[in-house]
This record gives sequence, C-alpha cells and structure tokens, in this order.
Amino acid sequence: MGYDVGRFQGDVDEELICPVCSDVLEDPLQAPQCEHAFCSNCIHEWLTRQPTCPVDRTPIMPNQLKPIPRILRNLLCRLYIKCDNAAFGCSTVVKLDMLQSHLHECEHNPKKPVHCEQGCGLIIPKDELKDHNCVRELRALVQSQQMKIGELQSELADQKLQMNNQKMEIQLIKEYMRTFRASNPRLRELQTEIENDDVVRWTETLQPARVTRWGGMISTPDAVLQAVIKRALIDSSCPSHIVNELMENAHERRWPHGLSTLETRQLNRRQYENYVAKRIPGKQAVIVMACENQHMSDDLIMEPGLVMIFAHGVE
Ligand SMILES: [Zn+2]
Ligand SMILES: [Zn+2]
Ligand SMILES: [Zn+2]
Ligand SMILES: [Zn+2]
Repeated sequence: MGYDVGRFQGDVDEELICPVCSDVLEDPLQAPQCEHAFCSNCIHEWLTRQPTCPVDRTPIMPNQLKPIPRILRNLLCRLYIKCDNAAFGCSTVVKLDMLQSHLHECEHNPKKPVHCEQGCGLIIPKDELKDHNCVRELRALVQSQQMKIGELQSELADQKLQMNNQKMEIQLIKEYMRTFRASNPRLRELQTEIENDDVVRWTETLQPARVTRWGGMISTPDAVLQAVIKRALIDSSCPSHIVNELMENAHERRWPHGLSTLETRQLNRRQYENYVAKRIPGKQAVIVMACENQHMSDDLIMEPGLVMIFAHGVE
C-alpha cells in the first residue's frame, strides 16, 4: 500500500500514483515493457493472482520488475509529507526521503520506547507510561524469570536423568564386553594390540628430549613429585592403562638391573646417550618407552617404559 495522497502538501503528479491502490508510490517498481509503476507490495500481491499489468494486461513475471527511472525517483523524493504521527500531535512535514529518519526520533510516536523514570528504569512504549505501575511490572518480571529458572532446573534434572541412564548403559556394555572377552581369547589379544597401538601413537606425539646431565637423575622421587609428574602424563593424554605402571617405574626399586643402584648406573653411564627419550611436557622429566628403545639391552629398559625425573639438565 502506498502513502495516502491527503498527507502530501500541494498536488501530486499523476505519474506518482499507484494504479493498484491509488495512493502515492511506496518502494516503487516498474513493469518491463509498458513501464507502468506500482508500489512493490501492490504489484507483487497482484501478480500472485494474474501475471499481467493491472493497467494494460501486458504479461509480467515478478522477476522482470525493475526499479523506476531516476527522474521519477527524484520527483517522489521531493514531495513533502506529513508525519505518520500527525494524529498524535506531530506537525512535522518532511521530504519523503527523510520520513523514515524523522519517524525514528518523532516525539509523538505513541510506541516510542522510553525509560520509566518513576523508579523501575524499564524501557516501555510511551503510550503505556500512564497506566504503568513499577511494582506490578517488576513483580511480573520477577515471576517470568522465576518461571525461566524453573524451566532450566527441570531441564537440568532431565539431563541428569539421561546421563544416569547412559552411565548405566555403559556399565552394562562394559560388563557384557568383560564376559565376552573372558570367553574369547582372540579378542583379548586383539585388545592388547589396540592398547599397544595407543601407546605407540601417544609416544609419537611427545617431543624428543635431550638430557644434558644424567647425574641430575632423582632415583627416589617423593610422593609429591610423583603426583606432579603423573598429572603431567595424564594431561599429555597418556593412555590410562599404562599411567600407573609408568609412575611405579619412576623409582629405582622398580628399575632394571642396569639402573637399580648408584653403582650400576655409574657403570652404564655411556649407554645413556643411546636412549630415545621423550619430554614429559613442562617438566624436568623424560619418558623412555620400551617401544622406542628396543635397541637397548634388557638391563636398561623395561615394559612399558621408564619415567626418569631430574633435578635439572633436561632440554
Ligand atoms: Zn500501491
Ligand atoms: Zn502496464
Ligand atoms: Zn513526527
Ligand atoms: Zn516504572
């Protein structure tokens, strides 16, 4: 629908009138051949019923409509129109192309959003201000938020329930797998292979480490230090089934013969350079994995690997 002719100052050129609604063109579009111009809404609605020009019945497809010529557009823009809110007391008259920006700030717009200054500070349409009651509004707001909180809480409870169900299912599957494995030795082998693959893959993700001072090795690390290193191992995605074993292998009482005493360690000092050692991220500690150290003698390596913690000297 176009703009009511009565809102304009002075006469409006016949060419600027929409033949469908008989008002002044709004967002006008032009027919491709006969060049008749219509409001965009008017012609689109018309074409849903019949694919011809409302004036002379020339065929038109909606995608053939085009913008009106600049001269016509300029004529439209130069028209002076009364504000939409004239009935609410606005006496402003603006050029048609300035109408939208005026409407944005028109003080007479009954729906203009304003701040309540009686205390609640809410933003409400201007025309609702006179019936507005801060306490009532705030109470309604609190209620709606309480409802939202209630909804969220029940959603959370649902999710918890689902999670518990999933946990139970996982438990069942695990149990099933256990019985299945127990009755099928080949499967057990397969699992060992898969686990070994995990270990190799994880080992490959670690950075190579260079130990510059093997003498700094701590052969009897205390519990706190071990806990710190264990945390770092877990953070580096160390496969969970070897973490504990590795950490037990951080103490000389578990080390292979070639490392188990100060004396044997001294004796084998020249062998250390042959270790493929990986850095435990961020720590003065390395891991010497059996899968990467098959060239070392049994005296100096053990399954699944050795953790060596240093006071200093790891790069
Ligand atoms: Zn129209
Ligand atoms: Zn036409
Ligand atoms: Zn106005
Ligand atoms: Zn208020």
